[in-house]
Amino acid sequence: MIPGGIQKTSLIDYPGKLACVIFLSGCNLRCPYCHNPGLAEGRLRSMEFPDMSRIMDFLERRIGLLDGVVVSGGEPTIHPGLESLCRKIKAMGYALKLDTNGTRPRVIRRLLEKGLVDYVAMDLKTDLDRYGELGARDGVNSALGESIRLLLRSAVTYEFRTTCVKPFVDETVVKNLARTIRGARLYALQPFQETVVLRPEFFGEKSPAFDRRSLQALVRAAVPYVERCILRGADNAAPLEGPMRGSNPDRPVTTTRPL
Ligand code: SF4
Repeated sequence: MIPGGIQKTSLIDYPGKLACVIFLSGCNLRCPYCHNPGLAEGRLRSMEFPDMSRIMDFLERRIGLLDGVVVSGGEPTIHPGLESLCRKIKAMGYALKLDTNGTRPRVIRRLLEKGLVDYVAMDLKTDLDRYGELGARDGVNSALGESIRLLLRSAVTYEFRTTCVKPFVDETVVKNLARTIRGARLYALQPFQETVVLRPEFFGEKSPAFDRRSLQALVRAAVPYVERCILRGADNAAPLEGPMRGSNPDRPVTTTRPL
């Protein structure tokens, strides 16, 4: 398990908590828009924290100063030592949030069953049958479906989230994904930030980002199916609240809090 880096303090990565973020190097996907190619390819190694023991020392020193720890990537669930890492973090008294792409449901299930995570954020990148375009192995859609069901049934806090990147996301994709997670407590859409990407040649001259009006349309496409849908990380973003479970998802949507 190689630490790719650590963000020592964050107010936004673990909702409601002052947290640090541990980035584990390596990922089992190759999203062309990945903004940290070094992490995805497992090349990135933290200079200040070259091994996990340094990170553990850091966490020991921050007990009482931080509320939580976010274990992120890359993709944390590909690392055999993840369970042990989570156990050590929990033993220090921290709340633990896992960021995952959802491709390893058996790992997620074990962490949930053993009470080693308090919050799970699962990325939904595009229609589940299009993950081959992101470098996923065949059959990953059933794994993703299993992870989704695990979280929907789970007692821990969770969110699903989608980075809005063309051509992987459009209104139809968001609607399909929202139907797939129907009844979810939180679905967060986030704008793509123009930055370094893993495969710039994939996008050519065209920007993969959505403008503000289009992002609003994406939120509206999801709102009928989930308890709460928010646009995160956009200027002046305010959450749009979806109808409660059991209401008619095909009724027209009225929002009282414009974006
Ligand atoms: S965006 Fe996330 S899932 Fe995709 S390659 Fe990068 S680290 Fe992996």
